[in-house]
Parts: sequence; C-alpha cells; structure tokens
Amino acid sequence: MTMAGTRTLSIIKPDITRRNLTGEINARLEKAGFRIIAQKRLRLDRPMAESFYNVHRERAFFNDLCASMTSGPVVVQVLESPDAVLRYRNIMGATNPANADEGTIRKDFAESIEANSVHGSDSDENAVREIAFFFSEIEIVG
Ligand code: GDP
Repeated sequence: MTMAGTRTLSIIKPDITRRNLTGEINARLEKAGFRIIAQKRLRLDRPMAESFYNVHRERAFFNDLCASMTSGPVVVQVLESPDAVLRYRNIMGATNPANADEGTIRKDFAESIEANSVHGSDSDENAVREIAFFFSEIEIVG
C-alpha cells in the first residue's frame, strides 16, 4: 500500500443507479476523505453475483440478494484512505437501514435491508480478494 492508506472494495448497488444517485454517493465518499482510485459501471450477471456472494450461499436471502444485485447496473470502486475497511463500514451504516445511525449512507439512501445502496468489504483480507474479483492492478491508480 501507499502512504495514503489502505484499500476497500465498494459497490454502489442497483437501487442507487436506478434513482440516478451515483454522484451523491461519490460526493459523500470524497467528503469523508476517501480517494476513488478505481471505478467502473457494469451489470452483474447471475454467475458473477453468486460467486461474489458465495459466502452467503446457504442463507435464506441468497436468491433474493442475487436477484437484487443483477436487477440493474452497479458501480464498483476501489476506495483508499487510512483504515479504509473500517472507515467505510462506519459511514455505510448497519445492514438494515432501520438500525443504521443518523448520517450514514444506508440511513439516508437505503430502500430496505436488501436494497441497501452500498457494499463495503468487511476485512482487509476480503478487501484484497474482492478488489481482485473486479479489477486488475493497472486499473487501480492511486
Ligand atoms: P453487509 O456486510 O452489511 O452488506 O451485510 P451482509 O454481508 O450480512 O449481507 C450481504 C447483503 O445481503 C446485504 O448488504 C444485503 O443486501 C443482503 N441481506 C443481508 N441480510 C438480509 C436479509 O435478511 N434479507 C435480505 N433480503 N437481504 C439481506
């Protein structure tokens, strides 16, 4: 990593792209001190969604989650800051927006526990794996 900090993988989910709020999320990220050092818009297909969320394969909501994540475009990003994983988890807010703190992205934007606007890696180890799932190193410019 550079002196600028560490990396996390962010996904702006289909509920945000559908409402044309991508720029509002990005403005929040930059105001919170993150550098968006890689970014692309794409549409996940079913195998990609199932692979990305493989850890949740046995969960009751797995099918609905994959359907939701393939329902429209997403914007995948690499965010850089000191303690990027933890800092992004903090500004994302709780998985269920009903439990999210005031001022968090999910409190202000999420439609439901499923359509909850953003994804962020939950550990440095998973961040490395998730970043590699979407990006090659030449696409990441710090
Ligand atoms: P996260 O790390 O806060 O994103 O939460 P998890 O890793 O536990 O879950 C992954 C994603 O699955 C969440 O962001 C939601 O989109 C979805 N999800 C989690 N719990 C539920 C649930 O109980 N029902 C449904 N429909 N979706 C859920």
